[in-house]
Amino acid sequence: MYDKYSMVADDFINDDEIKETLRYADENRHNETLIHSIIEKARLRKGLDHRDASVLLACDIPELNEEVYRLAGEIKRDFYGDRIVMFAPLYLSNYCVNGCVYCPYHAKNKHIARKKLTQEEIVTEVLALQDMGHKRLAIETGEDPVNCPIEYVLESIKTIYSIKHRNGAIRRVNVNIAATTVENYRRLKEAGIGTYILFQETYHKESYLKLHPTGPKHDYNYHTEAMDRAMEGGIDDVGCGVLFGLELYRYEFAGLLMHAEHLEAVHGVGPHTISVPRVRHADDIDPDEFDNGIDDETFCKIVACIRVAVPYTGMIISTRENKSVREKVLKLGVSQISGGSRTSVGGYAVPEEEDENSAQFDVSDNRTLDEVVRWLIELGYVPSFCTACYREGRTGDRFMSLCKSGQIQNCCLPNALLTLKEYLIDYASPETRKKGEELIERQLLDIPNEKTRATAAKYLAAIEEGRRDFRF
Ligand code: SF4
Ligand code: SF4
Repeated sequence: MYDKYSMVADDFINDDEIKETLRYADENRHNETLIHSIIEKARLRKGLDHRDASVLLACDIPELNEEVYRLAGEIKRDFYGDRIVMFAPLYLSNYCVNGCVYCPYHAKNKHIARKKLTQEEIVTEVLALQDMGHKRLAIETGEDPVNCPIEYVLESIKTIYSIKHRNGAIRRVNVNIAATTVENYRRLKEAGIGTYILFQETYHKESYLKLHPTGPKHDYNYHTEAMDRAMEGGIDDVGCGVLFGLELYRYEFAGLLMHAEHLEAVHGVGPHTISVPRVRHADDIDPDEFDNGIDDETFCKIVACIRVAVPYTGMIISTRENKSVREKVLKLGVSQISGGSRTSVGGYAVPEEEDENSAQFDVSDNRTLDEVVRWLIELGYVPSFCTACYREGRTGDRFMSLCKSGQIQNCCLPNALLTLKEYLIDYASPETRKKGEELIERQLLDIPNEKTRATAAKYLAAIEEGRRDFRF
């Protein structure tokens, strides 16, 4: 039976409840009165439950869909202003014992290059990332208790945080590794990780079991209950996501929101971020083999509906998506993007030869970080390298209550401007710097609080003189 308070995956991601939700959404997809009332509810900026949000996703009345898009854009601006948080993935190891059929790292793939970075190689990778200007990383590994044990991950995190090079430093390491034990999550927490990210891939249990035929990941419940163990281990910020294309997107959407509702009900705090990857081409993976691929229009609608359903949850998009899709979803709700990414192991320091593929997926946006930053500035966004909340201990429910009360706005814009200023001085091309400086001047005037504005101006001047790492 559906029970969001239950600790058993089959109860909080309940198949009957999802099917009933989809039936309800289908029945009501032309119900103008109901849809209007749901949109009005969403306007309150308190979110929507999976049933209401599923009706919006199913709605096929163009004018009402336009209203949802408009509202998503407004909520995005209310909660995130013009800021877009920048990050990069760092692949440490692609050894994997699992059999996921959509990922080229699956154990049976014998022709992909298997690599695991040594600590020295990690230093080289991180120096390359720091020289691009990155401050926030998401480390990625396959699952392999022998080749990539938790001790290796912990040591790597320590290495990454220890590297100080010119004005560079990685200030937040998010971690995307396989579901593990409470004890291991505790160790990750002690190592100072930011968000623990784990994609569910699909919430549809039957499909999940087929798509993960072998390896420890086959255990649907262990995987689905991982966020609860992570929180039990003391990790405040967790990041959810599904891989769109594996199952019916409306099923996944309802499952994703039910997962968020469960985390909020049990732990008092929902997911910190939601990622929305789509299946991509990769070494031995052809996305056309998956029947549930979604077009760009549907993808944008999913993003808009997530935005109105969980306004305070960050939404992440990677370089799996091309420039034009990224531009569309930035307007609708995405708040974090990667830039200049390499999805191969060791790809930042030494770009791979064509015959030496160790990448998890083909990148659709190949621009450098400088190009992505300039593009964002030209679109009127403020690229932000801010990591202040994590470093001030504003995580988990402390972060969420600040966010929900709107107080976060008093820190985000000034922090974004300070970290962008650092980026412009230390790493940007002259053209990007010029455009960025103009943007900072304009945006500084938008800091509502006079005292904060004056302090931000003082800090900006100090950064110009060579000082670094100011934050609100
Ligand atoms: S998705 Fe993760 S667990 Fe599955 S094969 Fe790829 S790296 Fe391994
Ligand atoms: S102040 Fe906190 S919420 Fe705002 S951008 Fe920085 S880290 Fe994110």
